Amino acid sequence: MAPKVVVNSPKLKYTEQYIEAEYEYQTTKVDTLGDGDTMTVTPGSTSLVIRTESKVPKLGVMLVGWGGNNGTTITAALLANKLKLSWETKDGLQNANWYGSLTQASTVWLGTSGDKEIYVPMNSLLPMVDPDSIEVDGWDISNLNMADAMSRAKVLDINLQKQLVPHMEKFKPRRSIYYPDFIAANQESRANNLIPGSKQEQLNCIRKDISEFKSTRNLSKVIILWTANTERFSSVIPGVNDTAENLLEAIASNHSEISPSTMFAVAASLEGCTYINGSPQNTFVPGAVDLALKNKTFIAGDDFKSGQTKLKSVLVEFLVSAGIKPVSIASYNHLGNNDGFNLSAPQQFRSKEISKSNVVDDIVESNKILYQEGERPDHCIVIKYLPYVGDSKRAMDEYVSEIMLGGHNTIIVHNTCEDSLLASPIILDLVVLAEFCERVSVKSQGGDFERFDSVLSLLSYLCKAPLVPRGAPVINALFKQRAAIENVLRACLALPPVNHMLLEHRLP
Ligand code: NAD
Repeated sequence: MAPKVVVNSPKLKYTEQYIEAEYEYQTTKVDTLGDGDTMTVTPGSTSLVIRTESKVPKLGVMLVGWGGNNGTTITAALLANKLKLSWETKDGLQNANWYGSLTQASTVWLGTSGDKEIYVPMNSLLPMVDPDSIEVDGWDISNLNMADAMSRAKVLDINLQKQLVPHMEKFKPRRSIYYPDFIAANQESRANNLIPGSKQEQLNCIRKDISEFKSTRNLSKVIILWTANTERFSSVIPGVNDTAENLLEAIASNHSEISPSTMFAVAASLEGCTYINGSPQNTFVPGAVDLALKNKTFIAGDDFKSGQTKLKSVLVEFLVSAGIKPVSIASYNHLGNNDGFNLSAPQQFRSKEISKSNVVDDIVESNKILYQEGERPDHCIVIKYLPYVGDSKRAMDEYVSEIMLGGHNTIIVHNTCEDSLLASPIILDLVVLAEFCERVSVKSQGGDFERFDSVLSLLSYLCKAPLVPRGAPVINALFKQRAAIENVLRACLALPPVNHMLLEHRLP
């Protein structure tokens, strides 16, 4: 049982409706003078009121690609945890858990008690959705029921699968949209569960699915998440998908360059739902972003940051912040699941390559002692499909760095991991944190309460290629991303950001 956290501060009010914090937001503004060598630094402070709605809604999640490895695994994990299942393995009895989930299995620093540091579960700070209460539904171009799809995925221990079959077989994915041009040709044999008709008719059908799910399950909120195959990039065409109006018009006129994932993003926004993109493609063409901004709905993405990229954004941050200069990064992957099969096609691989490529950019740019303007480490990404290893993905990385006086440091990492067991807790976190963000609003002096920008960059920790509001910096460094979440949660409780200064223990 998680401890209850109650903040004792005149700056925090708990009411039945809201948790309301008075908060001084501290900033540091830097101006570079003409010669480029002098910087003036100005500390700033803005008084904010941060309001969090206390009531957690009844939440439904709709997954696009529900019958895939991630879709079946997250559904199984929700059930296994809700039903508190245990199963025999060759190593003994295994209980359901949420290891790998930031919100369910990680703790945050709360403060000190004497000489002890006190940590609490992240989800105990503020009201967040309980995974046990989440209702799931979704779409897939393959018509297998979820029990058969779970068996096809070959991810879960067989003794767990056996217990889940009676529950999973009741779930059947809704028909979906399939435009063969967007995913690999090798996926065609799965496509037997399709919505017929024009793009406009298909959009209307998905919208109806969302509203029907919401009303029949009595839900107050629905979040849509894409965990279907990686698509090729869409071309951004002026007059077609560059503005919200043009995008809606292009759907109405059946334009061929509108991808299935963008169709789902449009449907979500029109239904007032948050839409999260777990794959690398550019679902959020300018018109889709514009639509979310206009409808004040949330979007987040792109591409789950699960294994190799997560480690890369830690390792390179560590090296560069230690004054060591990574000069060559080679990343090889092989995997044998359907995601790997789809990525064996060049255009779909290219989407993944792009999303994996930029992950060190902000870290490299942070250190001008090591890197000249425009200089980057060599960086190569290879993904191969090897059916035998199934969902157990192998990632092999070599990092070569320059150290003092011409020395070299080479780090080689070999990571073996069930891909979908890494991605599923991330799916849960994306949903839980996105739902939380929907309940937060902020007011500065003289202004009105406003929600976060439609582009929910706070979820960057969970995304390989974080989408950020226009003009905002892209942060890939994992610990900065985590600190942002932790400190925003603390701000909602009128608590100062974690600074680890511990002056009370460092001064006499
Ligand atoms: P998967 O191939 O097992 O599942 C994808 C599912 O999507 C399949 O069941 C397929 O039939 C379905 N599908 C394809 N097009 C569809 C459409 N238009 N509408 C509805 N369903 C559709 O793949 P997975 O391993 O579950 O991964 C899903 C996605 O998540 C991939 O794009 C992958 O690149 C991305 N991803 C996965 C991880 C990870 O660690 N597993 C990490 C980052 C990103």
